[in-house]
Amino acid sequence: MPQCQSEFVYADGALLICPECAHEWSAEAVPEASEPETVVKDAVGNVLQNGDAVTVIKDLKIKGSSQVVKVGTKVRNIKLIDGDHDIDCRIDGIGNMQLKSAYVKKA
Ligand SMILES: [Zn+2]
Repeated sequence: MPQCQSEFVYADGALLICPECAHEWSAEAVPEASEPETVVKDAVGNVLQNGDAVTVIKDLKIKGSSQVVKVGTKVRNIKLIDGDHDIDCRIDGIGNMQLKSAYVKKA
């Protein structure tokens, strides 16, 4: 419990009371502060969110193919993921792929 580990703590209604130090606190569980979500930012520092549309700011070669995602390509409905490449998306004419947020700009 917060503040006090006394074994003599007792409940009084919605409060817990410690007779040793007179500390009182709510018996209702304090919601844990949620883990801060990883913030993904684009090349210029805009915070990206799921569903955002972005523009590719650099020609990106696609691994294992001769295709290139050209600078200026618009990508809609991105999905943020964990990893080296932090954007999952689908690009018209290319298909599903992953991008690095450092190479896109929020549209
Ligand atoms: Zn106490």
